[in-house]
Amino acid sequence: PPVYIQRHEFVVDFVKKNKPKKVIDLGCSNCTLLRKLKFHREIEVLAGVDIDSDVIRNIMYALAPIPSDYLQPGDHPLTINLYQGSVTDRDPRTKGFDLVTSIELIEHLQLEDVDMFTEVVFGYMAPVAAIISTPNADFNPLLPRLTGFRHPQHRFEWTKAEFQTWALKACREFGYVVEFTGVGQIQGQEESIGFCSQIGVFQRVRSLSDASCRQGDVTEERLPYRLLYDV
Ligand code: SAM
Repeated sequence: PPVYIQRHEFVVDFVKKNKPKKVIDLGCSNCTLLRKLKFHREIEVLAGVDIDSDVIRNIMYALAPIPSDYLQPGDHPLTINLYQGSVTDRDPRTKGFDLVTSIELIEHLQLEDVDMFTEVVFGYMAPVAAIISTPNADFNPLLPRLTGFRHPQHRFEWTKAEFQTWALKACREFGYVVEFTGVGQIQGQEESIGFCSQIGVFQRVRSLSDASCRQGDVTEERLPYRLLYDV
């Protein structure tokens, strides 16, 4: 399958294995991943965030319940929330998730905003686990006719070494461990060149302080994200 499908399948496999109850997808775009995750019955809360509200509005009703959801209800209801907002902003409704996914998002940020993203995801949202994918620049010479970045909207593309340096620093700062993997590979080349899309799977090792664990108590805080869909 194409690499974008393999990225989503990677997340779905992680969900099947780890059974997170609350999952939030950052840069959810046209909600392709959320529409797949919706059918995983262990999930109780699914959320999506994108800076582009039109892309969400065009598709959000596709996440509405379908007749079979009523005919064969799961053990618990599923809540889906879609927000317009930037991943460099802290919104209390993004705290307390078991899994944060950020699939081909960070390379769309200005490089100087990446530190803010890192702080927001690992320091503020502080999920149990996070899956972060981004293009692997080391793989680019293998892509035919590519000059420059893979997409005109990419502000940077990291080599394996750059991605790993960023990820390990985030782990040291915020108390996570990371495993490096990816999707899209040329047989026998994974060691030297790596994958087409590199993926970091992060797990929190530090327990949260009481203050940062507080949930539901959101009245005092700013809510920078705009809720577009709640079903
Ligand atoms: N994650 C999706 C997937 O796996 O197919 C699509 C990723 S798309 C290449 C990048 C998305 O990130 C776009 O929908 C874009 O609007 C969104 N984005 C860019 N900057 C953002 C920001 N600061 N906050 C939230 N979303 C952002």
